[in-house]
Amino acid sequence: MKVLSARLTLFYLIFVISYSALADSSKSPAENWQSLSISEMLELADEVRSSNSELSNKIINHLQQQKLNDQQQSKLTYLQAYQFTFLSDYDSAITLLNQLTSSAINTDLKLRSYYTLLNLYTAMQNWQAGIEQLTHSVELSQHVNNKDYIIAYYLSAANFYNQLGQYQLALDSISGLKSQNTSARNLCIITLHQLQAELRIYLSSDEKNNPTASHLATQIPRGVEICKTAKANMLTNIIRTYQAELALSKKDTKQAISSLLPFLEEILKTQYPVLITLSYNLLAQAYWQQGDISNSEKYALLALENSELVSETQQTVATFKLLFQLAEHNGNYKKAFELHKEYSLAKQKVNDEEQAKELAFQLASQKDFANKTEIKTLTRANDILTNEQSLNEQQQENSLLLLLLLLTVVGLGVTWGYKTWLSQQKLKQLTEFDDLTQAHSRRHFIALAQQIINQCQIERKPLTCLVFDLDRFKKINDNFGHHTGDAVLKEVANTCKQVCRPTDILGRLGGEEFAIILPYCELLMGEDLANRCREKIAQIDYKKLGLIEPITASFGITCTDVSGFELNKLLADADDAMYSAKQHGRNCVQAYK
Ligand code: GH3
Ligand code: MG
Ligand code: MG
Repeated sequence: MKVLSARLTLFYLIFVISYSALADSSKSPAENWQSLSISEMLELADEVRSSNSELSNKIINHLQQQKLNDQQQSKLTYLQAYQFTFLSDYDSAITLLNQLTSSAINTDLKLRSYYTLLNLYTAMQNWQAGIEQLTHSVELSQHVNNKDYIIAYYLSAANFYNQLGQYQLALDSISGLKSQNTSARNLCIITLHQLQAELRIYLSSDEKNNPTASHLATQIPRGVEICKTAKANMLTNIIRTYQAELALSKKDTKQAISSLLPFLEEILKTQYPVLITLSYNLLAQAYWQQGDISNSEKYALLALENSELVSETQQTVATFKLLFQLAEHNGNYKKAFELHKEYSLAKQKVNDEEQAKELAFQLASQKDFANKTEIKTLTRANDILTNEQSLNEQQQENSLLLLLLLLTVVGLGVTWGYKTWLSQQKLKQLTEFDDLTQAHSRRHFIALAQQIINQCQIERKPLTCLVFDLDRFKKINDNFGHHTGDAVLKEVANTCKQVCRPTDILGRLGGEEFAIILPYCELLMGEDLANRCREKIAQIDYKKLGLIEPITASFGITCTDVSGFELNKLLADADDAMYSAKQHGRNCVQAYK
């Protein structure tokens, strides 16, 4: 599934970036190519590399038998790497491209190798490698003159950052491109990346009535027009999904439906599963919000059919959520229960992926910070050495100055060490604790839980696992704003920490869902603790937080006697029990049976 989804993303990437920046401008004759000179053959193979890969292949095979100079050989290597990406042989492509970026060839080809590599890393979701790639190539991009390559480079960067969820960086990458006089197609791609980033930033912000909303409301239709002019059917329709998402966020279901429904046929023609699933999904959500159950179900099922092809993404999660809500609505609790399981599983995978992205980014930022500091320190030290030399030359015996300089060097070393330590501490805090609630982050919680479970298993001691989820939390957000929702989450985590014993481990699994691992604890004792947490949460001074009714949570609980010593099973069973607590009217504790 992973491979398939990477391939689809890659298909999209190649389509968006490579087909476009150097849009087919085949000037050379395709027939009689054998009469061309070696350099002309290379040019031709390059021009048709995506539109006529068969011809490109023939030329490559022919040139492999010829004697080429270094420049020509480099270009041939690039074309070979490019063909490997078509065959989905990413490893071979990466090996060749890495050769090109490290060997001294012309800067144009080097930059092309860099952004092709970056596109591959994006497709493979290798965030760490992508970030490193960008750190190395950004300097080079300043020395390349060919505008098309520079545009392709920055578009690849924007695409990478958008996929990584670093939307501001995506915007930064394309900020210089808008003033460029470029092809209609490039303009469409630039607009697409920009709108994507702006929409994501807007949707994740607390303030829903900010100027971005009206900016997006005018820019998205403009984007649709730009891409229509460029005859970029797929991209036009991707932007239409942004329009629907924006409308949905404002609960304007009519507009959401009218942005997509009339274009469904066009969308299906693109054969791009990510776009198709997303469109069905948005329609299903819009109909659900309208209370049109049968249409909602129809499109949710269509989305599900296609979601096989896009693997676990936010869209799959949304589809399962909708389907289980639909089943619940229809009174089919057994089906709702099954679907809820699928939903939790998909959500967990997406959460894990999000965390992996965040972690890659944090690690890279720290490393980047370290590199920069190191470079600065080196330059400073170098300056000092130069000064020192001139001092000698002038035979000045101002030893006091020299001493001062030496002290600076030592001082720099100390500051450097301190900063590194500080950044490590910061990194530790960032990765081990959830920013908002200061409960353990999901990843760290799992690591800690795993350790203590192993220990209990060795010592043959019982352990209890709790999962709880706030009740009707969405209503709190909707009625009192995200800010209040955040404050509630913080207060709840705090309250539970006070009830817990020092050895208990509290983690935020995601959203408003938490888990607690209680080592050396039988089920009965666990139930008691869960009830105390539940009561304390209900006693939180909700008025002080600006709410009009008490906060409550539903708890699910299981223990190793029932579920065994496998963390995933413990969490899944506790989650099942939690779901059954929701069914039993919420604000209660249910044990897994
Ligand atoms: P239920 O009782 O069935 O659990 O209903 P619910 O409304 O709590 O459930 P649902 O899962 O539909 O809603 C969870 C909401 O939590 C949706 C999402 O917007 C919100 N949420 C998730 N993470 C955060 C966060 O970090 N801060 C805030 N303020 N809200 C969040
Ligand atoms: Mg909830
Ligand atoms: Mg929830």
